Amino acid sequence: MCGIVGYIGHRDAYEVIIKGLKRLEYRGYDSAGIALLNDKVELAKTKGKVADLEAMCATTISNKGKLGLGHTRWATHGIPNDTNSHPHVSNSGNLVLVHNGIIENYDALKQTLLKRGYVFHSDTDTEILVNLIEDVKIKEKVKLGKAVQIALNQVIGAYAIAVFDVQKPGEIVAAKLGSPLAIGVGEKEYFIASDASPYIEHTNKTVYLEDGEMAIIRLHKSLKIRSIKNDNLIDPYVQELQMSIENIEKGGYDHFMLKEIYEQPQAIIDTFRGRMKADEGIVKLSGLEDHIEKFLHARRIIVIACGTSWHAGLVAEYIFEDLARIPVEVEYASEFRYRNPVIFKDDVVIAISQSGETADTLAAIKLAKQQGAFVFGICNVVGSSIARETHTGAYTHAGPEIGVASTKAFTTQITLLTLMALRLGKKLGALSNTRYRNLLQELQLIPAKIEKVLAVSSQIEHISSLYNHATNCLYLGRGYNFPVALEGALKLKEISYIHAEGYPAAEMKHGPIALIDENMPVFVIATKKGHYDKIVSNIQEIKSRNAKIIAIVTEGDETVKGLADHVIEIPETEECMTPLLASVPLQILSYYIALQRGCNVDQPRNLAKSVTVE
Ligand code: GLU
Repeated sequence: MCGIVGYIGHRDAYEVIIKGLKRLEYRGYDSAGIALLNDKVELAKTKGKVADLEAMCATTISNKGKLGLGHTRWATHGIPNDTNSHPHVSNSGNLVLVHNGIIENYDALKQTLLKRGYVFHSDTDTEILVNLIEDVKIKEKVKLGKAVQIALNQVIGAYAIAVFDVQKPGEIVAAKLGSPLAIGVGEKEYFIASDASPYIEHTNKTVYLEDGEMAIIRLHKSLKIRSIKNDNLIDPYVQELQMSIENIEKGGYDHFMLKEIYEQPQAIIDTFRGRMKADEGIVKLSGLEDHIEKFLHARRIIVIACGTSWHAGLVAEYIFEDLARIPVEVEYASEFRYRNPVIFKDDVVIAISQSGETADTLAAIKLAKQQGAFVFGICNVVGSSIARETHTGAYTHAGPEIGVASTKAFTTQITLLTLMALRLGKKLGALSNTRYRNLLQELQLIPAKIEKVLAVSSQIEHISSLYNHATNCLYLGRGYNFPVALEGALKLKEISYIHAEGYPAAEMKHGPIALIDENMPVFVIATKKGHYDKIVSNIQEIKSRNAKIIAIVTEGDETVKGLADHVIEIPETEECMTPLLASVPLQILSYYIALQRGCNVDQPRNLAKSVTVE
């Protein structure tokens, strides 16, 4: 995920682009760049934020030019550094391109281009694309628009791109598949951006490109939209926007947390994009594949993490033991690093952190490495310290998570861990081929099933309004749903400041049951598979003590409906994938309770997004 801005018209492109990039910085902020076209191309790119780019431009380029492209990056291929920053320039120096997305078949394309004599300076997939377009343009002797079209028909992946040709000033070509792209239509000027916020004060006329469409944007000419696949001309649908800038940055949501909750279906697709082919029974994570022997011969897996990532680790314990039959221990990084742990050379450590900067996890990784263990990192932020410190790993590709309370990072971490367990389970013979394929098919359905959960958010909002005055809450679950209970309680604590405890449901009788009375809401995850009868008994026990029961149940469940005060239904799924669905209503519930209590949802008190201190 990243932000793109382009401009062609009568204004100084520099001003429009820098201001626009600042508004898009929520989409990515590890590096930024700008290219302006006057009598030549002026290019400035740097690691860091848009403010760093601005400072660089003040001394390095003239900032003149009525056409330009800018980019604020959220790296997916190659660490955030100056060279990997966009815009990327083709080998001849003629084509300049910005890109948001992932080119999945970049390696195959790269090999072909290398054979044709192309050289690459960055580690990005984007540099392959700009040179592919150039290669087509030269080989086929076509104009930029045609070259883009032919090249994109060879590309597998997701993209929003904007590109110009130095030899043909006065034209920008844009295209979209999977990543967003809006075109602002002004008086003798056009704006191109990942959302409408960069140009909202200049024009409210917007064309949102649809997947599979490309736009030829020429000064003094009307906008042309074509199908990338079959070249058909498409009538541009110009919308009049009535939105505030703040609203647009949050994609129309009131808070980043809500936006991120709603992004989960797409974020999960992005996590398995290019790594899973359910129909062919293929799971391929290069970080795992390159070191698979370490996993196959591991004495055990030790997961180290903090907070929500630790909960994802607990889910991993169930998944790896269940599907791959590898013993797993899950450790708080802060405890692990200080308690003189026994670490064997044949241990595999999986370190999980959204930001990749969590200080305790980083220190625990160093300790594990010193003692000879192999360390695999799971982070969201490309090029982060943990990504660099671990032997190998995989990114979740969830896109920037800005709300302090983690949501999509959690579900994408679980998705990635599930992919790993499936691959290892198959390789180790712990999973039959049929079961493996069924699980892959089911994983593919999870994004659509989350959409179904999101569709009942108004019911969850109503339930929240009945319990937002609670001072204490209990969350109960068994098996795979025990970590979900812990995560549900943490979400509530973090943003609404209500005291909440998560427990394995059976443990209730060993203490917490003493707390239960009519003032204690109890949230129970009581889905059909896995210990269902046992959890129904637990619900009976809670009910006899007059607590209010809010249960997460499988669609169509009548038994729990008869016992609980409220039920929230989630679609049926494989037991090991229940956490991916059951955690979503609990996120929504916490969100609305916090909102109704007047709390700052995105920036709860005393907390920070990335915990870089011990
Ligand atoms: N894949 C490109 C890169 O790594 C674009 C990343 C993005 O969309 O944020 O540079």
